[in-house]
Amino acid sequence: MFNLKKYMAIALIITFLASIPLANIPAEPEIIQFTYTIKADPNYAKPSGAGNGKPTADYQLIFARYQAETPLDLVVYAANDYGLSVDFVLGAITDAAYEWDAATSKQIINSVTLAGGFGEVVYNNINALFFGDHDDSNVIAQATIWANRITKQIVECDVQFNTDFKWGDGESNSFLMDLQNIATHELGHGFNLADIYDDSKSYLTMYGISYYGDVEKRTLADGDIAGIRKIYGS
Ligand SMILES: [Zn+2]
Repeated sequence: MFNLKKYMAIALIITFLASIPLANIPAEPEIIQFTYTIKADPNYAKPSGAGNGKPTADYQLIFARYQAETPLDLVVYAANDYGLSVDFVLGAITDAAYEWDAATSKQIINSVTLAGGFGEVVYNNINALFFGDHDDSNVIAQATIWANRITKQIVECDVQFNTDFKWGDGESNSFLMDLQNIATHELGHGFNLADIYDDSKSYLTMYGISYYGDVEKRTLADGDIAGIRKIYGS
C-alpha cells in the first residue's frame, strides 16, 4: 500500500543528499597526496613519506619521472599576528623560491604573490604558504603535495609553517626559526625532492631536520642542485 510518510522520508533524504556541496566529494582517484614534515628533534622517528631517506643519496626524488606543473605560482597568506611584517614574509619566501629557480635553466617559478586571510591545507590548485598551528609541536613545517598518477605531475604543494615556533630572520637572531631556510626546504618537496636523513648530509637543503638559527638550507648544496637538475635539466 502507498505509504505517504515513507515516501516523504525518502524525499527528504534525497533533498538532503542533493544539498551536500560538491566539494565534499573525495578527490579524483588519480590524485594522490603525501605530507612531508621537517622536525626539530633529530631523535624523532623519521617520517615515511614516498622517497624519503635513501641513506647514501645526495638527493632523492619523491616520484620517479614526475615533475611539478611548472612554472609555479606561489601564494603567500600572511594574515599573521605574531610580529612579522608582510614584507619580511613575502621577501623570505620569494628568496627561497628563486634559489631553486636559479639552479636550473628551466623557469620553475612564475610568481610569488600575497593573498589576504589564512591559507589552509586543501587541494584547490593553489600553492598556498601560510602560518598555522600544527598538532605536533616537533614539526617545524609541513609540505603537503598532490600528484596526478595519469599525467605524472605534482599538481599542488601547500606549506604550513608551525606557529609553535618563533619565526623570523635566523641570520640576525639565532633564537629564531629562519623562514627563508625552512621555506627553501619545503619548496624542494613541491619540486619532487624528498627528505634526506643521513646525518653526514646535514648541509643539504633537503636534510629533514632543522633548529633555531639554522640558515644552511637557504643555499642549495651540490646534492640539491643535482636533484633539481635531474628533474628539470641544467
Ligand atoms: Zn622535508
